[in-house]
Amino acid sequence: MNSYDTIVIGAGAAGLSAALVLGRARRRILVLDGGPPRNAPAAHVNGYLGIDGLSPLELLDVGRTQVEKLGIEIRAEAATLVETVDDGFVVDAGDERLHAKRLVLAAGITDALPDIPGVAEGFGVDIFHCPYCHGYEVAGQRLAVVATQPMSAHQVRMVRQWTDDLVFFTNDTIELDAAERRLFAARGVDVVDGPVSQIVRRDGALQGVRAGGAMHEVAAVFVAPTMVLNLEAFAGLDLGMTDTPMGPVVATDPMGATNVPGLWAAGNVADAGSQVIAAAAQGARVGAMINGSLVEEDWAAAAQPSS
Ligand SMILES: Cc1cc2nc3c(=O)[nH]c(=O)nc-3n(C[C@H](O)[C@H](O)[C@H](O)COP(=O)(O)OP(=O)(O)OC[C@H]3O[C@@H](n4cnc5c(N)ncnc54)[C@H](O)[C@@H]3O)c2cc1C
Repeated sequence: MNSYDTIVIGAGAAGLSAALVLGRARRRILVLDGGPPRNAPAAHVNGYLGIDGLSPLELLDVGRTQVEKLGIEIRAEAATLVETVDDGFVVDAGDERLHAKRLVLAAGITDALPDIPGVAEGFGVDIFHCPYCHGYEVAGQRLAVVATQPMSAHQVRMVRQWTDDLVFFTNDTIELDAAERRLFAARGVDVVDGPVSQIVRRDGALQGVRAGGAMHEVAAVFVAPTMVLNLEAFAGLDLGMTDTPMGPVVATDPMGATNVPGLWAAGNVADAGSQVIAAAAQGARVGAMINGSLVEEDWAAAAQPSS
């Protein structure tokens, strides 16, 4: 069985950053890359100091090149099963069983989109979930928030910061009482009740939102997808979870350690709200923590009396 100091599961910003730190600490590392990152539908990574506006895939290409230069292998394979063993973990990927002393869980999130025609085609293009990522590019125009879950009530407050011309579609999902309607009116937010039947697109461009038989023209739409953690391979571990307003995430201590000894988590899987720069920072910290734990293990072994 091939054996590594650490296997990194997920080759997004979090996983590649962890690999970069561990590679620079001269550790034997394997990165498993299960496919595109969460933000693959978007043209740009916005809000990342120094590389603001680079494409998500270009950013990871640069990251992969830097990691591979350190002699680290990146395999285009997903981890399908993770199990604990006495001296670490075994991980199934492709046809192989692999061994590692430590694991980085950086497998991210899948966005389960609301079942409204038009949303899937425009997600990341002109239908967004995060105003910090895309609000600036559409600011000042007529924008819509379509309610898809309780978090949408928070989203409408946030998106209002990026425009004075906002319409909120309650979409039979959120009920506003009289006081809330007065507050929305005071903040200049239009409210349209009733179900949204379609996000209308023509020739790849957003036209508007169809609700109650009427078409409402808008420049961009915000929705709140359901965030599904990519944890299938980890189902056999008794991973601790923690509830957040965005849904449950993997529970970690401030340094990224989970309740499973030897397993650290970074990026969206442990912090659903982290943007790319934060996911990268979490990965870098986890890389350093893992190296530190391996250093301590070596010194503890040296302190044992030799037989
Ligand atoms: C449409 C959209 C646009 C966004 N735009 C921005 C933006 O402009 N700026 C910004 O800062 N943030 C943006 N984000 C947020 C950004 O996507 C996240 O912050 C970032 O992707 C988190 O990085 P991560 O490494 O945790 O996860 P990811 O980037 O999703 O990486 C996780 C990786 O793990 C892989 N994986 C999953 N399961 C396995 C497995 N079993 N084995 C191996 N690999 C696996 C996945 O395929 C993926 O490649 C956007 C998000 C969306 C949805």
